[in-house]
Amino acid sequence: MTQDKFFLSAEEKPEDVSEGGVYRPHSLKEFVGQDDVTRRLHIFIDTARKEERCLDHVILSGPPGLGKTTLAAIVAKELGVGLRMTAGPLLTRSGDLAAILTNLQANDVLFVDEIHRLNISVEETLYSAMEDFRLDIVLGEGPAARVVQVPLQPFTLVGATTRLGLITRPLRERFGIHEMMSFYDIKSLETIFGQAAQRMGIAADQKALNVLALCSRGTPRIALRLIRRVYDICVYNKWSSLTQDSVRKALEALGIDEDGLDGLDRAYLQALGVRYANKPVGIDTLTSVLSEQRDVIEEAIEPYLIAQGFVDKTPRGRILTKKGQKKCSDIKK
Ligand code: ADP
Repeated sequence: MTQDKFFLSAEEKPEDVSEGGVYRPHSLKEFVGQDDVTRRLHIFIDTARKEERCLDHVILSGPPGLGKTTLAAIVAKELGVGLRMTAGPLLTRSGDLAAILTNLQANDVLFVDEIHRLNISVEETLYSAMEDFRLDIVLGEGPAARVVQVPLQPFTLVGATTRLGLITRPLRERFGIHEMMSFYDIKSLETIFGQAAQRMGIAADQKALNVLALCSRGTPRIALRLIRRVYDICVYNKWSSLTQDSVRKALEALGIDEDGLDGLDRAYLQALGVRYANKPVGIDTLTSVLSEQRDVIEEAIEPYLIAQGFVDKTPRGRILTKKGQKKCSDIKK
């Protein structure tokens, strides 16, 4: 039994939302890991609350599935204000953004996911909204055109991005708080797995939690998906609890190896190491060899392989490190 080759993608899948409801921590206290980020946010939120003003605009960056959306909801909750959620690709016209902004209550949080994908006219509308809480609306065209200014309630924009480098400088500079989220450490992931197992009503020993944590690519979304599948396999086989042994067997059935790599990761490493004999390979070549979208490769596969030291990105292309070459020859066996 093997799973689809891209089981460990951190992109949100429909089942992540529908299956048994998504678990989301509801407060900074419940939020596991990212301690530096949550500590700073706590201070900024506390001060804004005491002074009864809106929080400065916040930009959260990092790979998918690390908790950016979850944190945005927590920020609104801790501030005690309303939350409106949208995403860059959904705001196709300035009017879409204007409709949302004019409906915000004082100090509300507006969350814009994938903010690097805003089109330029919508982005330009955001500038005055963020800086002066004002919308500049152009009426008419040509010499008769005039600008009408519409005042807005003060609000906090929380933007999330997996590609900080794609955000233009004028937009980036309008955020007062910049937080970069990084892959979770093993201890935090063990805690997340332990809590999830408890919610699912299955016992799990520490070694089992450790094996799971090592295989979840430092990403809570993957961790939560992984434990649901491991749970299914355990129940199917009538194993009474999650132990190191049962988890290992379940992971093997899912096609996930001891480094937490799935079929697509392995195909990626083999493309570099075998097909191109470890010569530098460009992203376009990898896109066609793996039949995957460029975004998936750049945002979901590579960050983890690079963070784990399997792959290096050089100006001439992607190349396997020594560790990557060893892994690649282990896969071939
Ligand atoms: P992003 O917006 O960065 O893609 P999400 O906020 O949608 O990520 O989080 C993905 C999943 O992981 C959600 O189900 C969320 O509840 C869970 N999650 C994220 N961060 C944590 C955390 N620190 N502790 C427990 N679960 C988390």
